[in-house]
Amino acid sequence: MKPNSITRREFIQSTAAITAAAATPALFSSPVRAAEKSAPQKMIGIQVGSVSFTDEGVDTVLDIFREKGAINTVFLTTFTHSRGLGGRQIPGQPFPDHGKQESDETTYHGGIFSTPHAEFYKNTVLKIPHAPELGDVDIVATVLPAAKKRGMKLFCTLEDVFRADSPGMDQAAEIDLQGRRAAPFLCLYHPEVRAFWTGLATDLCTSYDIDGLLLLNERNGPLLNALGASHTQSIVSDRVTCFCEFHQKAARERGISFDRAREGYRQLNGFVQAALAGQRPGDGYFVEFWRLLVEYPEIIAWDRLFDAAKHQVLAEINAAAKSVRKELQVGFHIEHVNSFNPIFRATRRYAELAQKADFLKVVAYNNCAGERYANFIHNVGSTVFRDVPPDELLAFNNHLLNYEHEAGLADLATAGLSPDYVARETRRAIAGVQGKCKILPGIDIGIPTAATSRKASPDDTYAATKAALAAGADGLIFSRKYSEMRLANLAAGGKAVRDLAG
Ligand SMILES: [Zn+2]
Repeated sequence: MKPNSITRREFIQSTAAITAAAATPALFSSPVRAAEKSAPQKMIGIQVGSVSFTDEGVDTVLDIFREKGAINTVFLTTFTHSRGLGGRQIPGQPFPDHGKQESDETTYHGGIFSTPHAEFYKNTVLKIPHAPELGDVDIVATVLPAAKKRGMKLFCTLEDVFRADSPGMDQAAEIDLQGRRAAPFLCLYHPEVRAFWTGLATDLCTSYDIDGLLLLNERNGPLLNALGASHTQSIVSDRVTCFCEFHQKAARERGISFDRAREGYRQLNGFVQAALAGQRPGDGYFVEFWRLLVEYPEIIAWDRLFDAAKHQVLAEINAAAKSVRKELQVGFHIEHVNSFNPIFRATRRYAELAQKADFLKVVAYNNCAGERYANFIHNVGSTVFRDVPPDELLAFNNHLLNYEHEAGLADLATAGLSPDYVARETRRAIAGVQGKCKILPGIDIGIPTAATSRKASPDDTYAATKAALAAGADGLIFSRKYSEMRLANLAAGGKAVRDLAG
């Protein structure tokens, strides 16, 4: 049998062996000391889902992390339903050179990958089950002792991604512009949703001797969603959210008119749909858009409501963790759109985020960035900036963002962005947080792109890793998930870490 296709029985046995071994430290004292001696000082992390451990074995995976990637911190996917952080390689992409070479597209479900302890979820209708694909395996309880044995830290990664059939969706899903429930997106002002997130954080921090949490929420507010001002989104101006009773209450408390906001978004939807159909307003696309914002400032105010709730939930999760143990570290993932969309950038101040988190994982994925940035230019070039030739729009945007010397639009997806982009985004974040929290850039290893777009070579990974560390980062996180990374790339990242450590 191939070493990477262990059976479930073998997996459980190997886990039991690890647990037993951890109880006899004398057996392992020598390798642990050696690992500590050679461990780099900076936090070198990797994102990994449970499937890699169940497919390949806990010992095998952690040893690869340490030996090839110079990794000292495991960011273990513990809550999500997404394929960005969970499951094997996504369909249509080649499998990497490890793990099972078989799609789990039809069996992947997601959920809580640890054991949900009911007492922490008493105050929420969101009774999210243990991820069914794991059977009775609790991935945090399984990996934690093996990580500790190696002197590695373990953080639980939590991502705000649910399923349309998740329990409680009928009560707590957002309400869209047309008054419909917008599953699977949960309203962050809804008390049941707030209770779920603090319950989950408290459960994990209480039930396991982990080192902290990494939180991901890549959802946008209604303005950016209406414009499709991101890399992945389609333009959904008729389905923006949220207009539920809890949002209305939050708006009233801030003196924002619900009726004016809703009417503003109806007008914005009309503008976007007309623009997509090529119906140019008399004064041009940009002027008409800006006029809408001037006439309906509630459009921006309602968008800010979303960000306020998103950041409040992150702060509440951080507080919940700290109330269990002060030394627990909580970090936020800062999504890619913060890098290439100046409208989004304007809604984030690093110094403010730094007050809410112990570290920020700043996405600086340079290979997939070419394709993503090109998509963003295409989206905003279809509506607000439709009067501007796309090449000129890209060049202008590059000036706004300090993206110099990158490829033109025709070559952007195949070229990706440069390692210098990684350095510039790292320096921007470090300057922004003013020493108030740590900066860990997210390094792109094998993030899926279209067949004709940039694929990272080991040299690319080496250069990006080196650029982040040389720019002064406090560490980094190899992303998005081990089950899509090739080992040669991981080893190249590890080599850069060791070369810089001297
Ligand atoms: Zn709402």
